[in-house]
Amino acid sequence: MSENFELIKYSGAILCKHIADGATIQIAIKTEPVCAEDSGWQFLCGCDVGDDSEGKIWNLKEVIDIEPSLLPYLLCEEECYLVRDSNSKEWKKYNDIDTT
Ligand SMILES: [Zn+2]
Repeated sequence: MSENFELIKYSGAILCKHIADGATIQIAIKTEPVCAEDSGWQFLCGCDVGDDSEGKIWNLKEVIDIEPSLLPYLLCEEECYLVRDSNSKEWKKYNDIDTT
């Protein structure tokens, strides 16, 4: 695990409750962190974005424990959007955040 990841692995990330319940991560969104403890990352199973009432806060280390393939992307500084389809392990990265 990279040294830089050591610095952020306890930052908070928002997950939908389905992922907390065992669903696979299909979408990852990086936005500007709102506070020092926030990583700016949000992870979704593919359900509707923005239903904050259903969100859970995990740290990034816990996310990597269930989805190690996201590790290379988590050090990304700029806003980005990662998505993959259910049959593929390959993430596609976009720098335009368009969740509509
Ligand atoms: Zn979900």
